[in-house]
Amino acid sequence: MSDCIFCKIVEGAIPSSKVFENENVLAFRDIAPAAPVHILIIPKRHLSTMNDAGPEDAALLGELLLTAQKLAAQEGIAESGYRLINNCNSDGGQTAYHLHVHLLGGRPLGALVE
Ligand code: IMP
Repeated sequence: MSDCIFCKIVEGAIPSSKVFENENVLAFRDIAPAAPVHILIIPKRHLSTMNDAGPEDAALLGELLLTAQKLAAQEGIAESGYRLINNCNSDGGQTAYHLHVHLLGGRPLGALVE
């Protein structure tokens, strides 16, 4: 089995608070939420970082964003607003090396960069 924690979540070997799943995408609540709504949207197929996506992944990347949009509406934060983040590699603050988009909302989020 892969050492990737998010692959283990996809496989069900590690439990998660799942909010959406289809054949390509899984979304679950972040274990250390930074906002009242903090959901991670991931491709089921392992891609370590944004750098590993290619033209063949265009539809998958679109699906991640459209899933985030749908979940924002489902969580009731579409109108108040939300933030989508992808952290890439160390300077980007990435800690989990399986591509993911953070959906954050439910409070004013302030400045974009520390
Ligand atoms: P990154 O810093 O952009 O890579 O984000 C990784 C995120 O994964 C962090 O916000 C962590 O809190 C979150 N995380 C790590 N392990 C788990 C888990 O097992 N379940 C849910 N979220 C996790």
